[in-house]
Order: sequence, then structure tokens, then C-alpha cells
Amino acid sequence: MPDLIPPLVAQREGILRDIAELGDMRRGNITEVFRSCGKPGCCCSERKHPGHGPYYAFTTKVEGKTKTVQLRPGPRLAKFEREVETYKRFRSLIQQLLEVNEAICNARPLEPAAESETAILKKTGLQQNLWVKPENETCGNRPVEAADAAENAW
Ligand SMILES: [Zn+2]
Repeated sequence: MPDLIPPLVAQREGILRDIAELGDMRRGNITEVFRSCGKPGCCCSERKHPGHGPYYAFTTKVEGKTKTVQLRPGPRLAKFEREVETYKRFRSLIQQLLEVNEAICNARPLEPAAESETAILKKTGLQQNLWVKPENETCGNRPVEAADAAENAW
């Protein structure tokens, strides 16, 4: 079997470099909104009129409360859009980082130190105690299944 780890580690380093280069980011969303002004006789009071706009609203959650910032088209809106986009990119890179890390964890053999630890435990007879399991526990396939389930959850 070819060693899977070096290419995965290279991939992880690439993702970390991308994260380091992201720049300013901001959590939240920008939505386009149309509003009626409420003035009698204004065209926006007609049923088919979508309302004035578009206006832009940046919303974010701060300690469980939604905070909104109204934005007009212009450099400030453009800045918010860049910052929000960067955050989305960050989220996507973090997802990739976790996936590649989990692949590394699955491919990584036991460290020699861990093996010698097992040997010491064997000698001292302590290992037996570590392997006591409840009777209804299923076989050793469980951790693999759990890993698959975690992958699907993403
Ligand atoms: Zn109006």
C-alpha cells in the first residue's frame, strides 16, 4: 500500500497557507431588501410594486441577538461584501482542513512510542485491565463506522 500520509500532509499545508492569506473577514449575511415608504399616493403603495430599493442589510448574530446594519450601494457595501465572502471562504477551508486531518488520522499508524507502551503494559500485566469491556459491546469495527457517520454528517 502506498504511503497516503505525505500527499495528505502537503494538502493540509496548502489549506493552512490559504487560510493564512485570507485577510479581513466578518460573520454574517448581506441581503437585498425592497421597502415601501408608506407615503400616500406613492407608486410603491400599488400592490404589484416591489417597493423602493434595492437596499442592503447586513445581519449578524451577536450573543444570540440579530444585529442589522443598513447599507447603501457604494464602497462600504462593497467592503462588507468582501468581508462576508472571505468568511464564507474561511468556512469552506476549515471544512476541508477537518476532512484532510481526519484522513491523516485514519492513515496514521500507531507511533512507536505507543507500541512500546503496550509492550510495557504486557510485561507488567496492566494491559489486561485496559481491555475489559462490557459484554454487550460489539466488535472492533465500531470506530470505523463512527468515522463514516461523522463524515456523512458534514
Ligand atoms: Zn414609496
